Amino acid sequence: MAAEQVIGVDLGGTNARLAVVDSAGAFRHRESFHSGAFRDAPQEALLERLAEALRALVRNAGGSGARVEAVGLGVPGIVRLPAGVVVASPNFPRWREFPVRAGLESQLPVPVVVDNDANAAALGEQWRGAGRAFESFLCLTLGTGVGGGLILEGRLWRGADGMAGEVGHVTVEPGGPACNCGNRGCLEQYASGRGIARRVREALAAGSESALAAAEPLTAEAVHRAARAGDRVAQEAFHQAGVALGIALGGLVNVLNIQGVVIGGQVSQAWTFLGPPLIEELCRRSYVAASGTVRVVQAELGDDAGILGAARLALRGAPR
Ligand SMILES: [Zn+2]
Repeated sequence: MAAEQVIGVDLGGTNARLAVVDSAGAFRHRESFHSGAFRDAPQEALLERLAEALRALVRNAGGSGARVEAVGLGVPGIVRLPAGVVVASPNFPRWREFPVRAGLESQLPVPVVVDNDANAAALGEQWRGAGRAFESFLCLTLGTGVGGGLILEGRLWRGADGMAGEVGHVTVEPGGPACNCGNRGCLEQYASGRGIARRVREALAAGSESALAAAEPLTAEAVHRAARAGDRVAQEAFHQAGVALGIALGGLVNVLNIQGVVIGGQVSQAWTFLGPPLIEELCRRSYVAASGTVRVVQAELGDDAGILGAARLALRGAPR
C-alpha cells in the first residue's frame, strides 16, 4: 500500500511554495506561484489562486495512483485556531478576520489545517531538521521579520490564543525604533532583514563609509556580501543583530530552560558575523545558559522547513 500523502504549503510574502509530501517526509511533487502579486488584491483572489494550485496537485497525485489525504498551510500572521481564521497578516493586509480554512475546504475534497508560518517552520525542523536533537527548543526564522515557534516536551506550544512564540516582538531596547506591532525596540527591529537594512542606512546617514552606499536595493543579502568582503558597517549591523538576539534569548532561556535554539531564515546565512556575539551576549545575560546545556544551532532545512511543518500538521490533523 502506498504511504499516506498530504500537501504542505508555505505561503510566503513573495512566493507560495507547495509540495506533496509522504508520511516519511519525502517530497513527491512541487509547485509554486508568485504570491507577492496578490498583496493588494481582493482577499478572495489569493484564496482562489491557492485553491487552483492545490486542486492541480491533488489531481497530479491522483494521476500517479496516490491519494492526498489533507492539506496543511502555514500563513504569515496571526491565525485563530482551530478555526483557521487569519486575524491579520503583515504580508496580505486584506486578510483581516478572513476564514481561510473554511474557504479552502469549500473548494477541495480534503480537510485543511491552517497555522502560523513560524509554527510550521518549528514543526518542520522538529520533524526532519536541526530540532530532531531536542525535546524542547525555540525555532527562530530571521526573514523580512522575525518569526518564532516554541516546541516544549515535543509539542508545539500555541498558548491561549495561538499567538505564542512571538519572539520577534520581545523588547530588547526600551527606547528603540517604533515597531508596527505598537511597541518600541522589538527584536525584529534589529535581527530581521528590514532591521539590518535600517541599521546600515542609519550608519550611512551618520557619515560612515561603506560600499553599501551604492547598494540598491539594500537587502540583507547585499549586506552579507559586503560583510564577507570586510565592510565594517555591514559587519557591525550583523554584530548588533547578534547582540539583540542574545538579549532576547537570555530572558527566554532563563524562563524556559530549553535544550536548544534553532535559528533559520535568510539573515541567519550571516552566521559567521551573527553567531559569536549572540552566544557571548546570551551567556552574559543568562546564568541558565552560562551554566547549562542550551545549544544554539543553525536550522537545517532552509525554505523547506515551512512546507514540511505544514505537511506534518496535515498528517496529524487539526489542532484541538
Ligand atoms: Zn514589535
